[in-house]
Amino acid sequence: MHAHLASYLDGNIAGDLAQSKREFLEIGRRSGNYPMATARRDGVDSEVSVWCSNDYLGMGQNRQTIAAMQAAIDTHGVGSGGSRNIGGTNHHHVSLENELADLHGKEAALLFTSGYTANEGSLTVLAGTPKDTVVFSDAKNHASIIDGLRHSGAQKRIFRHNDVAHLEELLAAAPADCPKLIVAESVYSMSGDIAPLAEIADVADKYGATTFIDEVHAVGMYGPQGAGIAAREGIADRFTVVMGTLAKGFGTVGGYIAGPAALVDAVRTYSRSFVFTTSLPPAVAAASLASVQYLRSSDVERKLLSENAGLLHRLLIEADIPFLSTESHIVSAFVGDDDTCKRASQLLFERHGIYVQSINAPSVPAGEEILRIAPSAVHEQSDVENFARALQGLWEELHIPTASARDWPI
Ligand code: PMP
Repeated sequence: MHAHLASYLDGNIAGDLAQSKREFLEIGRRSGNYPMATARRDGVDSEVSVWCSNDYLGMGQNRQTIAAMQAAIDTHGVGSGGSRNIGGTNHHHVSLENELADLHGKEAALLFTSGYTANEGSLTVLAGTPKDTVVFSDAKNHASIIDGLRHSGAQKRIFRHNDVAHLEELLAAAPADCPKLIVAESVYSMSGDIAPLAEIADVADKYGATTFIDEVHAVGMYGPQGAGIAAREGIADRFTVVMGTLAKGFGTVGGYIAGPAALVDAVRTYSRSFVFTTSLPPAVAAASLASVQYLRSSDVERKLLSENAGLLHRLLIEADIPFLSTESHIVSAFVGDDDTCKRASQLLFERHGIYVQSINAPSVPAGEEILRIAPSAVHEQSDVENFARALQGLWEELHIPTASARDWPI
């Protein structure tokens, strides 16, 4: 094991947790289940270092998560056999929903087959009822939020990204007696910046608005027991609905909302993307439950992720490489040109065995192309150093403007 990881484990965390982390890494390697940070190139006997996986904490390779899935497969097989209302509900689904409600301190939670359908399905219902609801949506909200709001037919007001003064202006201009819903993310998926949640909660209170927060890039990674950014700030109870995914920090697949029982029941009853589709396999629910429970009791992965993200931030600042945010683990290096961005991604792969995807329009506006870099808990210090060195070399070779040489578009 790398010295950095070993000394971190020995110095900072309890012995049994250090042991479990060590075993996790070693078992992953020995079994040929490569830790998430590496993968095999097709047909080539060398490894690729992966820098764009959303399995930020390595939970897709976690021993307990894998064991829970295997045990559930032995008992229940690999499929659920139906939609939640017609044969597709198993005790693993119900236990997971109870666990997620408890994690977020909400009355109830509801599982969907993905984070996409959780947003689309629940917002179609929540924004569409009552019919005169006006929705206030951050300009950078994810496609799944945009689609849910579109399908709801609700009137929509878009506030400038993370601009609470603009949000308040729009709230003040809306009819005082119409129901209002504010929708925002906590950690934004592409830029990695974090919403001013307390200020959003303040204006929501002032104008009597319901709030819906997408914590997809935060659950598992931030807050006590991995409950997210609102929980980290001690204000989870100020948001009506928390939405999350099981596919990033928790390492499996699926999405959910957690909130007041009456709202969750309305979504359960009317959401077409909940009702009219086959539910998650029980084994996925069992693995997800194991993952959520594991991350509620272990801080190791969160600490390692934060260390690696911090080291990467420092090295990129030293290398004068521009990136959009220092607030979260998502590091979006700003390239600002379509061809150069693709070329940088290609050269990283061909020359350095590093896989990081270029993000081009329409995922970001044209001219704001980025390399979206995702450090993880299972990268080692040498991986981070190699990555930063490779990126610096390409920045020079491709004449990409440095941080000190350009104005920021965002
Ligand atoms: N919300 C946000 C902010 C996302 O970034 C994503 C996916 N990247 C989703 C929702 C959808 O989640 P899932 O991948 O679980 O469908």
